[in-house]
Amino acid sequence: MALNKIINIIYNDSKFSVDTATYLKKRLISLNYHVSDTFDYTAELTICIGGDGSFLKVLHDYGFPDIPIIGINTGHLGFFTEVDPDQIDEFLDQYVAQEYTIDEINPIEAIICTRNSCIEAMGLNEIVIKGDKSRTIHLDIYVDNHLIQRFSGDGILISTSTGSTAYNYSSGGSIVDPRIDVLQVTPLAPINTNAYRSFTSSVILPADAVIKVSPEYRFENSIVIVSDGVEHHHDAIIEVVLELSELKVKMLRLKNSEFWKKVIEKFL
Ligand code: NAP
Repeated sequence: MALNKIINIIYNDSKFSVDTATYLKKRLISLNYHVSDTFDYTAELTICIGGDGSFLKVLHDYGFPDIPIIGINTGHLGFFTEVDPDQIDEFLDQYVAQEYTIDEINPIEAIICTRNSCIEAMGLNEIVIKGDKSRTIHLDIYVDNHLIQRFSGDGILISTSTGSTAYNYSSGGSIVDPRIDVLQVTPLAPINTNAYRSFTSSVILPADAVIKVSPEYRFENSIVIVSDGVEHHHDAIIEVVLELSELKVKMLRLKNSEFWKKVIEKFL
């Protein structure tokens, strides 16, 4: 994306975010940037003000745009948000001096096929396949066309390395250093009895793995697909194929960005 001095600012409706956006806009204008009132797909940068949830919402609302993105954190400690509101001046100095790197992260893509059509869903953190209305579900899980298990339980969560610290971690999955690109399949309340056998820990797969999930016939109308918290309800789902997308989310990183520092601060 060429540097054309157009910047998108997207913020949630908390007073802190609105005030932060007002200050940021004033500073950008003083630096001769144009701040668009509507989302501009030709912009050189998108700045999202809020927490991790707001950051994910921007990607979903605008279709995972091919524009570098950075978050200013007005929520809890954010994994996607690089800048604190009191560091805006420092951030702008670094941005203007081009003292940053761009991390390209592949989201996960699901092709959800029903008896009538196929629909796509995308997740930066994860895609969850679970029982609708709290039903236990039974799923056949294939990796690269090999059946690896018949799962029974609440559902399964397929996470990117980036999403490993989110719902995946709360569900007993492992934290993955973002320098390693993997897919992680984490069971949600797996049933292990005389009748049903499911893996009880996460399974880690290579970045090019293709995962296929088929619900048992009688559960075709009882599953829901959730991508980064967004629910997709469809009838007669016969299979879901998941793999890392070729799309890239371009995260702008400043010099002092430290993944493990955030992990320790948030979880220990
Ligand atoms: P949300 O309220 O926007 O987010 C729920 C929590 O997940 C927030 O504390 C959020 O951090 C945190 N989070 C999101 N992405 C993260 C990441 N990559 N690493 C560490 N923490 C992260 O909820 P939502 O809009 O429904 O869904 C968005 C995301 O929430 C989903 O992608 C899912 O991963 C996560 N979620 C977690 C659980 C759980 O842990 N039991 C359940 C449902 C959904 P901030 O406070 O910084 O926003």
